[in-house]
Amino acid sequence: MSLIAITEVKKRFGDVEVLKGINLDVERGEVVAIIGKSGSGKSTLLRCVNGLEMIDDGSIMVAGAQLINDDLHLKALRLKVGMIFQQFNLFPHLSAGRNVMLSQMVVKKTPAREAEAMARRMLERVGLGHKFDAYPDQLSGGQQQRVAIARALSMQPMALLCDEITSALDPELVNEVLAVVKELAADGMTLMMVTHEMRFAREVCDRVVFMHQGRVHEIGPPEEVFGNPRTPELRQFLGAQL
Ligand code: ADP
Ligand code: MG
Repeated sequence: MSLIAITEVKKRFGDVEVLKGINLDVERGEVVAIIGKSGSGKSTLLRCVNGLEMIDDGSIMVAGAQLINDDLHLKALRLKVGMIFQQFNLFPHLSAGRNVMLSQMVVKKTPAREAEAMARRMLERVGLGHKFDAYPDQLSGGQQQRVAIARALSMQPMALLCDEITSALDPELVNEVLAVVKELAADGMTLMMVTHEMRFAREVCDRVVFMHQGRVHEIGPPEEVFGNPRTPELRQFLGAQL
């Protein structure tokens, strides 16, 4: 059984159909890159998988459970599926460690002492064990994004959704974040990541999904999608990335 099963998913905003029948199964431990032009529906797809947007048609199953529009259910879903965004969204008045502790304590009702131990472990895992007491404005963008990753990991998700998590970073900070993602992938984390980092997608991902106008236009292993694009749309998209 796939960890994430997306079947004929449709989503509209007003009159505009943004997802036009998406089918995509993600296996446990699989790393899937989602590429495509701005406006092709990549973020909307991830937001639907995390229950931040409700779908209009089709179904999304996570670990065998169908995603339905119910507050308790959505809360449970977000415990299973973590999401990381382009903006780090750390609380500026809280230390890195406190930021990582907070969601565990609020959402999972984890006792402070346990949350702290987890926060220390997860900050260690993203290479920031020494920054527990640092405030966000004392950290680089790359470090802040790694804190955001630690925060997501502290919830012990079954899968992580990453939406252009390096796009807001100065170029020299991109690699430290990608290195963390690469390690998570190697550790067997299931990942769906929208990315513009084609080299990274090629190197780390098991499959690449090319979205175009709300549809999965091409899908396959990176060597196929990048090495032998079948449609003019993908060829044009890849050409524009050079
Ligand atoms: P991508 O991430 O590939 O750039 P998005 O999923 O963000 O694409 O957006 C796909 C389309 O849906 C765009 O045309 C965008 O303007 C529209 N859209 C996204 N979110 C909303 C929203 N909350 N309300 C209205 N339109 C939206
Ligand atoms: Mg987007």
